[in-house]
Amino acid sequence: MTNSAELQKQVAERVRFYRELGIYDFYRREDAAQSELEMQPAVSLPSTEEESTLPTRATTSEGQMTPEKALRMIREDLGDCTRCPLHKQGRKQIVFGVGNPRADIMFVGEGPGADEDQQGEPFVGRAGQLLNNMISAMGIRREDVYIANVVKCRPPGNRTPEREECDTCSPFLLRQIAVVNPKIVVALGAVAAKTLLGVNDAMVNMRGRIYDFKNTRLAVTYHPAYLLRDPRQKKEAWKDLQMVMRHLGMPIRQNAPS
Ligand code: URA
Repeated sequence: MTNSAELQKQVAERVRFYRELGIYDFYRREDAAQSELEMQPAVSLPSTEEESTLPTRATTSEGQMTPEKALRMIREDLGDCTRCPLHKQGRKQIVFGVGNPRADIMFVGEGPGADEDQQGEPFVGRAGQLLNNMISAMGIRREDVYIANVVKCRPPGNRTPEREECDTCSPFLLRQIAVVNPKIVVALGAVAAKTLLGVNDAMVNMRGRIYDFKNTRLAVTYHPAYLLRDPRQKKEAWKDLQMVMRHLGMPIRQNAPS
């Protein structure tokens, strides 16, 4: 594909996503040095090829290992986990996490659904498609971020994971967060937000601010599956992501009507 055909395709995808958010008006900033809709990653993130030559960004609690190696070790510690009842409730496989082990942004969902259980990767179904669109609207790519869930095994019938299941599995998530050492964690939905923040509050109260969380920061937004059920809330989710972008000093596209 030529550069301009590729750019056109990316622009069309971006416009479709904004329309889904209920945003129809676009304008081009006069001072834009480059096309607003060019899909440059907004924060400097290493490509996969560069990874091995980069210095480790932080010494992790997993010792002096690289994040890649430390994540592998956490996965090994999980093993063929039987720590909670989910292991005998029809899971096909453990869904550990995916993405850049040195990501600036880490998204945390609730638990794998049927597609994720099948493919062994978080957020690959319909909710995953919407998450991909949200990530791309931020001007970055799925492979630039790290994505994981609170529970690593599919709850039967996609039920909400029980508190005990979250408590049993979340130490592994906390280790993943410590290793990736993102600049910010984005909790997708109430289960992730409540588990990570250790509070039992309503989404409406947990959104809209940046929390100090462990050695990093945390923001809360709606779960993409919820946004699929109630697309009117996509506008609110976009506000949350803009807050995250502002926090990271990423360029904000002011496309929303006032
Ligand atoms: N919902 C989640 O919370 N996580 C996934 O990986 C997929 C759907």
